[in-house]
Amino acid sequence: MLRQLNLRVQPHVAADEQKLIRTAASELAIDARTICGLRIRRRSIDARQRQIYINLSLDLFINEMPPRLDFEPIDYPDVSRAPRVIVVGAGPGGLFAALRLIELGLRPVVLERGKDVHERRKDIALISRNHQVDAESNYSFGEGGAGAYSDGKLYTRSKKRGNVEKILRVFCQFGASTDILVDAHPHIGTDRLPRIIEAMREQIKRSGGEVHFQTRVDRIVVEQGRATGVECAGGQAFHGPVILATGHSARDVYRHLAAAGIAIEPKGIAVGVRLEHPAELIDRIQYHNAAGRGKYLPAAEYNFVAQSQGRGVYSFCMCPGGVVVPAATGPRQVVVNGMSPSQRNTAWSNSGMVVETRPEDLGGEIAPFLTEAMADGEFAANHPDIDNPDSPLRMMYFQEALEKACWQQGGRSQTAPAQRMADFVNRRLSYDLPKSSYTPGLISSPLHFWMPQFVTKRLIEGFNAFGRRSHGFLTNEAVMIAAETRTSSPVRILRDAETLCHVEIEGLYPCGEGAGYAGGIVSAAIDGERCAEQLKRGVAFQ
Ligand SMILES: Cc1cc2nc3c(=O)[nH]c(=O)nc-3n(C[C@H](O)[C@H](O)[C@H](O)COP(=O)(O)OP(=O)(O)OC[C@H]3O[C@@H](n4cnc5c(N)ncnc54)[C@H](O)[C@@H]3O)c2cc1C
Repeated sequence: MLRQLNLRVQPHVAADEQKLIRTAASELAIDARTICGLRIRRRSIDARQRQIYINLSLDLFINEMPPRLDFEPIDYPDVSRAPRVIVVGAGPGGLFAALRLIELGLRPVVLERGKDVHERRKDIALISRNHQVDAESNYSFGEGGAGAYSDGKLYTRSKKRGNVEKILRVFCQFGASTDILVDAHPHIGTDRLPRIIEAMREQIKRSGGEVHFQTRVDRIVVEQGRATGVECAGGQAFHGPVILATGHSARDVYRHLAAAGIAIEPKGIAVGVRLEHPAELIDRIQYHNAAGRGKYLPAAEYNFVAQSQGRGVYSFCMCPGGVVVPAATGPRQVVVNGMSPSQRNTAWSNSGMVVETRPEDLGGEIAPFLTEAMADGEFAANHPDIDNPDSPLRMMYFQEALEKACWQQGGRSQTAPAQRMADFVNRRLSYDLPKSSYTPGLISSPLHFWMPQFVTKRLIEGFNAFGRRSHGFLTNEAVMIAAETRTSSPVRILRDAETLCHVEIEGLYPCGEGAGYAGGIVSAAIDGERCAEQLKRGVAFQ
């Protein structure tokens, strides 16, 4: 017999199955020996009070054995003779689109500019070691996309539970721990993601799909209003309808779309810094305990949001027990982001601290910052239309200007400009910096002085508000590392809300984060699946 039970227990009980069985038996007034198995359906931490509780929803198998599997795996068919669909980009959007195409009986041909997930690791190591950024293989480009070397957080604001659960089950089918099916805040970790991504690729190939690495798409071929294929940097051409899942950092793709007159528009982004605290300090604050998290709790998370002068200021992509990474995708850029291993066990916890910025903000307080960026001859030459208020690329230009300023302030390498948090709020230069996880190194810099005032004054207000809410959070033990700019896409590729097809071009399906319709691994994956489904419905294959 299956009985369901909600329990609220202390962390040491939640961590021990035998203790849980005894607690459940006593709650149900039954003999613990009749419970043959226990499965956790949902797990969350309640850290609002000094005594921390774990909330659990349990399935108890009484006098019967639990089923062998936590989920029903998908049986992917052979599609080697099926009509072909071009999927550009092997991030979560592209990979999940490809797998869904196979389920629907279509043959994906995945084109990825970067290298496979293992080769890519070597290029990523070189960024820290030699400050050398390969424009085709880095933290954003390569198999697995921006999601491969990340925290692998899998929570999303998407309210469609069914869609989210499907994505999580697919991750489990390819090797993720089934813990992600039960945790309120599931995450995989950067040490485990590559193996999972590799297994997805092998399934695509086993089913008769193709995956081509180091194959950068330079042009979408449009004939009489219909996308008929793509042309690649190496001269190859591929024919078929196109799912374009190139992520938020493929600036050459946005430039190509703008130049080809394919409808796109600027989109608001959030920009700011990575804020890094000692993990112990965040644990002490969030778990209200001077001793920290103890033996049974994970590195603590936080989530802050405030309003400042009409714009949101918030923490973004928090990485408890993680590291800050150099996420530039080209020369003359410094960009930071965060990732964590599955155990979330480093000495630091970081998050993006960002300010919502809209296209209309560029003409106001941000304008002087852009004018100053234009004093750099190389930048000016690459952005001749930066002053054009109608340019669909203007938010992207702002991102680029900020990343270039960081590169200059950091000493023209991947060394990042940084400032202690309380010094920043008090508008003081930090005369030294705390130890940091950011391996290319930090240089003390007055961020309050040279970053756009639009951003810094709101960050200061936000930090003051967060410090009032969480005693000890606003501290000089924390360091701000500039700049966090790749929070979402600076461009939206216009598509029909129902069919998901581009508004003007048949057979072109802008997909995932780069198209402006997702923010994060799970939402990009959901969008990939939806694009595959709508393409199957909308394209008449011969
Ligand atoms: C360091 C880091 C940590 C992150 N941590 C998390 C996290 O914990 N949780 C979370 O939800 N999100 C996280 N994110 C964000 C998340 O990774 C993205 O939201 C997600 O990967 C977007 O998926 P996507 O498929 O739309 O695009 P991407 O993942 O960006 O994939 C796009 C792919 O397209 C390829 N491509 C680009 N241009 C071309 C071209 N012209 N031809 C061929 N291929 C091309 C790229 O190489 C890339 O592989 C993180 C991002 C970074 C950088």
